[in-house]
Amino acid sequence: MIISMLRGATPEQIEHVCDKIKSFGYSVHPIKGEERTVIGAIGDGKDKDRIISVMESVPGVESVIPILQPFKLVGRELKKGKTVIQMDGLTIGGDQFVVMAGPCSVEYREQILTTAEKVKAAGARILRGGAYKPRTSPYDFQGLEEEGLKLLAEARERTGLKIVTEIITTENIDLVNEYTDIFQVGARNMQNFALLKRLGRVKKPVLLKRGMMSTLKELLMSAEYIVSQGNPEVILCERGIRTFETYTRNTLDIAAVPALKQLSHLPVIVDPSHGTGKRSLIPPVSKAAVAVGADGLIVEVHPNPEEAFSDGQQSLLPEEFAAMMEGIGKYLDVEGKRL
Ligand code: PEP
Ligand code: MN
Repeated sequence: MIISMLRGATPEQIEHVCDKIKSFGYSVHPIKGEERTVIGAIGDGKDKDRIISVMESVPGVESVIPILQPFKLVGRELKKGKTVIQMDGLTIGGDQFVVMAGPCSVEYREQILTTAEKVKAAGARILRGGAYKPRTSPYDFQGLEEEGLKLLAEARERTGLKIVTEIITTENIDLVNEYTDIFQVGARNMQNFALLKRLGRVKKPVLLKRGMMSTLKELLMSAEYIVSQGNPEVILCERGIRTFETYTRNTLDIAAVPALKQLSHLPVIVDPSHGTGKRSLIPPVSKAAVAVGADGLIVEVHPNPEEAFSDGQQSLLPEEFAAMMEGIGKYLDVEGKRL
C-alpha cells in the first residue's frame, strides 16, 4: 500500500507511521518528495482492509491507497518520478543517453584495450565485455573468467570508461564485485531468483536483460526481486524475444520501451545487437530506440568481427560504431537527450 503523508508531517510522525506499519509485518520504503513524503509499505496483503483503516487514523497520514500492480516497488503507482542512477558524473535514466559498447566476450588484452579506446572516442561511456559467457553449447568459448575481469579493469584504468559485465552464478558475485561497475544479468538468467536476490544486496547497479521468452510483467517482477532486497538501481534492457521469425536472431520489441516506461520508473535501454543478430540492422534500430524514449543502448563492437570468439555477425567494427553514433545525434537532439 502507499501511505501518503500530509504536507508538513513531522519526522517523528513519519517514523511513527513506519514503526506502526512494520508492526503488521510490512517492509517500508519511504520516498521523500519536495512537498511530502510517501511511504511504500510491502506485505503479504493479508488483513489489508483492516490495516488500511488503522493507518488512515495515524496522525500525519493523509491517505492510504492499495497498490494494485503485482510489481509494487518498481511500478509507477508508488513512484511517479523517474529513477536516475548516478555514477560519478554519469547518469542513467535522466537526460543523458548512455551508450555501453564493446565485444561480446573479452578475448585478449589487445582486443579489449583497442576496442575500449575506440568506443570511448566515439562517445560510449561504458565498456561492455563478457568474462563469463552463458553459451548454448558447452564446447563453445566460456570466457576468460577472472583474467577477463582484470583486462576490463585495465581498460577502465586507461580510458576512464565504466565497465559492465555479466554475472552468471551467485558463486561469483564477490569476485565480480571486485572489478565491475555494473552487474549484467543475461536473458538466460532473468528468472534465476537466487541470483536476483543476492544482487538485491549489492551496492551497484544491475542491468537486467529481458528473457527471450519473458513477458514485460515477468521482467518487472524480476526487477522487483532485486529492488525488494534493498537495491533500487536496476536498469531494464529490451534485447528481443523469440518469435516465428527466423530472419533476425530475435524479434526486438520496440514497443517494450515505452510500455516499460509507462509501467515503471526504472531506466530502460535497448540491445540492438542481440535484438537483431545482424550488423546492418544495428544503426537503424538504434535510431528507433532513441525515438521511443530509451535511456541508452548496449552494442557489440569488435575490432575484427570475423575472428570474434562469439557474436561476430552482430558486432560492429569500431568505424561503423563511430558512424552509428554520429547518425543518432539528430535523433538525440529531437528527444532533448545528450550523450
Ligand atoms: C550478451 O550481452 O553478450 C548476452 C549474452 O546477451 P543476452 O543475455 O541478451 O543473450
Ligand atoms: Mn553477445
